Amino acid sequence: MRRLAGKPDASQGKRRPNENCLKGKRCPKCSSYGPFEIEVSMTILLSDEGRDDAQDGSIEFNDDSRAKCYNCSYSRRWAGFNVRRSR
Ligand SMILES: [Zn+2]
Repeated sequence: MRRLAGKPDASQGKRRPNENCLKGKRCPKCSSYGPFEIEVSMTILLSDEGRDDAQDGSIEFNDDSRAKCYNCSYSRRWAGFNVRRSR
């Protein structure tokens, strides 16, 4: 698993609302705004010689992908990390 090296904030969790990749996302347990670990699927080019990047090597995930809070290790599907609007 890749770590966010050189970012001391990562272990504490982000405290300000997200505005970019994680817009609308927040841990429902510890209220951290991330970062989060997400299980992704990716297409690779596999030959007898080994593995290489496919032409369409895009990484894919969706609301049903498994996600985990980096701060408290809370784990559930990615859709469960949506910020709930207060009524
Ligand atoms: Zn959390």
